[in-house]
Amino acid sequence: MLSIAIAACTPSDGSDDDDGVQSAIPPALISALPPEGGRLAQQDPDRFLALVERVRTEPEELTWLVDKNHPLAAEYVPEDIRLLRDYPAPLVLNRTDLSLREIILPDLVAMVESAAEEGITLDISSSYRSYDYQAGLFQRNVDQLGLEQAERESARPGTSQHQLGTTVDFGSVTAAFADTPAGRWLSDHAWRYGFSLSYPDGYEEITGYMYESWHYRYIGKAAAQLEREYFGGVQQTMLEYLAANRALD
Ligand SMILES: [Zn+2]
Repeated sequence: MLSIAIAACTPSDGSDDDDGVQSAIPPALISALPPEGGRLAQQDPDRFLALVERVRTEPEELTWLVDKNHPLAAEYVPEDIRLLRDYPAPLVLNRTDLSLREIILPDLVAMVESAAEEGITLDISSSYRSYDYQAGLFQRNVDQLGLEQAERESARPGTSQHQLGTTVDFGSVTAAFADTPAGRWLSDHAWRYGFSLSYPDGYEEITGYMYESWHYRYIGKAAAQLEREYFGGVQQTMLEYLAANRALD
């Protein structure tokens, strides 16, 4: 089934490739891509497969699917959580208790410095949130509003990307952030540093969240490139795709 090879659509049908080897992408992997991504992957299977392979060599949790239907375990606490105020780099912090996974900090700092060179400040407003913190928040809402309303206004514990320790809220954490220099800069450049906008404008039905121009998740540079080239910049679609493929392993 998955061993069926598909011919790559090369324009040079008249002459056989000298190496005689064409990478084949299993049809199931192509059909699960968005149409434009599938077309590009068939055009150049090697490029697509190499990028997917790069993603698979990264720590798996960078691209775990975490959403309202795929919560993290209560016990999940990243091992390398680091208090940002102690990190030896010029980060602008809007709270003193912010922390993130250490493995993402070099790319975060590189991104912040790159923006600073253009006179733009990427200030950090929110970061790692533990399961217990989320549970406390949700329970307070249940107590005050009742379960039904609490579920409308807040996330059940375990369903926040912030529990991964790789997600950052920048700036004002309001709709106005999108049109600030920082918001625009991130929208253009964050992917180069491995950061991805989790909840883009117009995708609420797919992501389950309204547009959050300030909420970026670090997924690694390879995954950010994969998302951009083959998934139309929609993180959720790519994470679902990667999760489905892991299930095939
Ligand atoms: Zn957030």
